[in-house]
Amino acid sequence: MCMKLTLDRMCIQTKNLCKACQTAMDKGEISEFDMELGLILMNLAKSNKYLNDLTILNIVETSNNVFIMVKKGQIEKMEKAHDQIIEQLGSLEKRKLYYFEKTKSSKTLVNMLLHPIKPISSTTIILPPDGQKEIKLKFKSKYKSEIPLPAIELSKLTSAILNMETHYIFV
Ligand SMILES: [Zn+2]
Repeated sequence: MCMKLTLDRMCIQTKNLCKACQTAMDKGEISEFDMELGLILMNLAKSNKYLNDLTILNIVETSNNVFIMVKKGQIEKMEKAHDQIIEQLGSLEKRKLYYFEKTKSSKTLVNMLLHPIKPISSTTIILPPDGQKEIKLKFKSKYKSEIPLPAIELSKLTSAILNMETHYIFV
């Protein structure tokens, strides 16, 4: 098994992007951060064998946080390496790193991010004409201050993970 990152390991190592990686970079699907973190993880894996089979599926950056999606069951690996990662990351600045597992279920995701806060309702809306789906999550307004991230950040994050627009509403 070998490490999988959000772009090719060879492209990270040589800092010379292949066409596919360059396209992903131009589209904003990956960034300099993906390259920096990738290189750190590859170097850390030399002396930390548990990182050898790590799979990073997605990295979502917001102004205050960086969210790293790993394969199911691999959060522990990132947590174990966390201090070493932080030590070497130059471009993190004041942002915080969050790790989470891949999921396709909005319910699981919201539970992972907001536990113990639960939505009152979760509605999937199918929009004409192409049947594109969007999710509307309703919460009691008293929870607004308890939610760890601003609604706009949550929305950006869940939209990127689930590949669907996600709206957080407080009533
Ligand atoms: Zn590449």
